[in-house]
Amino acid sequence: ITVFVSGATGFIALHVVDDLLKAGYKVIGSGRSQEKNDGLLKKFGNHPNLSMEIVKDIAAPGAFDEIFQKHGKQIKVVLHTASPFHFQTTDFEKDLLIPAVNGTKSILEAIKKYAADTVEKVVVTSSVAALATPEDMGNTSTVLTEKSWNRDTWESCLANAVAAYCGSKKFAEQAAWDFLKENQSNVKFTLSTVNPGYVFGPQMFADSLKNGVNTSSSIVAELVHSKVGSQFFNYSGSFIDVRDVSKAHLAAFEKPESAGERLVLSEDLFCSQDILDTLNEEFSQLKGKIAVGEPGSGPSFLEKSSCKLDNSKTKKLLGFKFYNFKNCIVDTASQMLEVQKET
Ligand code: NDP
Repeated sequence: ITVFVSGATGFIALHVVDDLLKAGYKVIGSGRSQEKNDGLLKKFGNHPNLSMEIVKDIAAPGAFDEIFQKHGKQIKVVLHTASPFHFQTTDFEKDLLIPAVNGTKSILEAIKKYAADTVEKVVVTSSVAALATPEDMGNTSTVLTEKSWNRDTWESCLANAVAAYCGSKKFAEQAAWDFLKENQSNVKFTLSTVNPGYVFGPQMFADSLKNGVNTSSSIVAELVHSKVGSQFFNYSGSFIDVRDVSKAHLAAFEKPESAGERLVLSEDLFCSQDILDTLNEEFSQLKGKIAVGEPGSGPSFLEKSSCKLDNSKTKKLLGFKFYNFKNCIVDTASQMLEVQKET
């Protein structure tokens, strides 16, 4: 069975590619340049079941056409993970919303054009961001579930980069469900989405940490590298380990009961204070060197500043236990400290 993974060079996708290869699938990935693709192939030891194609920009019209024209007849499963996840822009439409939405539409259009009879399963990497606006996430009376939708409009999400990123995930996911509704008779695939909270956990390859860290991991990295007494922004939300996110991408197409479902991935709520507490407790080499904040105040902070989340439906469907907070943070930070030692 051949699986296509868009954005294969990403933090989450590298774990997905690894799990797919270990499970015996053939994998075709897309990355943005020859250099990135060659680097990835090398990291996987030029695995015979892995090949790469270039998609420079998912926002470009027909971005996936060539790939599906070439390989469509052998691809059975499509995992669409590529989407911009950063806040370094003031042109939110051009850099966040349009690539997210157009990328999703163009991969589905390419399937329809060239692989309508072969692709059976599509999994779109969405987000908890598609379930709620940043404001609603901070509302203590909100309870997010697999049915929740971010209420922002295209216009209202343009207020700032975080809202725009959340909007990009909402509108991209919505585009996928709408496409399927409109094309029931033109394609044969079933759709599932994977909607993770903040994703932490180790990089698949430690050296990814050497050229700037991905957005969610940077929350942990900034605390690992903080100075004693320094101020920090107390992020709050739900978290999940990247190894569980990867596993869920496989379950999203392997388990028949995943078809048509949104898999909301969250082990628990967390805040930056909780991360600091774990770092200070678990790493003797960091004690006295990094920020401390107010140890033990995480739960009361969350009580005042975070929505609740009920993903019991997803947990039941997946049926495996997620990495807990301590293991997830310890594994994330250990790798960062190892890499720091080497450089
Ligand atoms: P990364 O930034 O590591 O991965 C994103 C991938 O998408 C990269 O391979 C990136 O390529 C590619 N990409 C982005 N924009 C474009 C574009 N315009 N054209 C082509 N490729 C593009 O982040 P993650 O692994 O964390 O994110 C993967 C997916 O998971 C995204 O859809 C994200 O929204 C979602 N997600 C992530 C969460 C998290 O906390 N990490 C939480 C919830 C959802 P390149 O690096 O070369 O630019």
